[in-house]
Amino acid sequence: MSFFQVPVPEVSLALVAWYKENARDLPWRKDVTPYRVWVSEIMLQQTRVEAVKPYFARFLQALPDVQSLAAADDDFLHKLWEGLGYYSRVRNMKKCAVRLVEDFGGVMPSDPAVLKTLPGIGSYTAGAVASIAFGVPAPAVDGNVLRVLSRLYNSHADIAQNAVKKQAEETVLQMIPQTDVSAFTQSLFELGATVCLPGGDVKCENCPVAAWCLAKQNGTAAVLPYHSAKPARKREEHTVFLLRENGRFILRKRPEKGLLAGLWEFPNAGGHLNEKQAIDFARNLGFEPLRVRALPAAVHIFTHKEWHMIGYLLDGTTENPACVTADAKELQSVYALPSAFAVYRDIALGEQTI
Ligand code: SF4
Repeated sequence: MSFFQVPVPEVSLALVAWYKENARDLPWRKDVTPYRVWVSEIMLQQTRVEAVKPYFARFLQALPDVQSLAAADDDFLHKLWEGLGYYSRVRNMKKCAVRLVEDFGGVMPSDPAVLKTLPGIGSYTAGAVASIAFGVPAPAVDGNVLRVLSRLYNSHADIAQNAVKKQAEETVLQMIPQTDVSAFTQSLFELGATVCLPGGDVKCENCPVAAWCLAKQNGTAAVLPYHSAKPARKREEHTVFLLRENGRFILRKRPEKGLLAGLWEFPNAGGHLNEKQAIDFARNLGFEPLRVRALPAAVHIFTHKEWHMIGYLLDGTTENPACVTADAKELQSVYALPSAFAVYRDIALGEQTI
């Protein structure tokens, strides 16, 4: 079954010409190297361009090459990534860097099939690195590209289906021109990010391929692409504890596997605990509370679940000499806490009224 047709060559030429005139000035588009392209593409997954810019600059300054990334300490990496979310991305980057150093002399391969064998590099990232950094014809199909293709061909196929994504890759591969491979790949990203925007924000009047676009002709751009409904997110309740002794807060490390693996967190328990249960919880951790105060509720949305949190600030003393504690300065500069705890971290930092 054919979801997309292969566009005429004029479409690719129009996209490249438009990109060369209209490309945004982005940090990773200067001094293009495989490492810089790779870092930017991993950061840009699930994160907006404007949010990525300061992270990209800081990451490249701290870890300028594959070798420095391979040798980086995990806590330092988490701190560099703090706020970007999806921390498994940066842990996989380190694993990949170690493989590159051990098996590839610290050099990224240009073959997308080889890139795909490395930790954390899937079909999209392999295509992006191979085509943007090396000029190798390889498709890089993300949500933006699926939207553009669905509209160009007025396709109502479900872009959540692997078969549709696979066919989109084949279509893009056939669209790649002989020259300007890098510009072509980026032109599709750029069109999706600045012109062929989701829903009714689409700007067909500025589009270089409007003359060939079937969604424009059919008036269906705003309702494409079609994406089958995602399953509802699971709701979970948690109680978060700021256990404070002499201005220092108790932290603990999350398990090495699972959600937010290996990151620091404030102690927390499943369910919404009442004050008595909260005191019992603290005592079980070896913390003797002298004063308890309820904190504001907070919600954090993950891809597949929602955390509905309440919190307590407990002042007291700890009898556990092995526990890790941090003052406000260390919470800012040393320990990476996932953004799920941002509300409680801000309270701990004294940035919100308790
Ligand atoms: Fe997207 Fe409109 Fe361009 Fe078609 S004409 S590709 S819908 S921006």
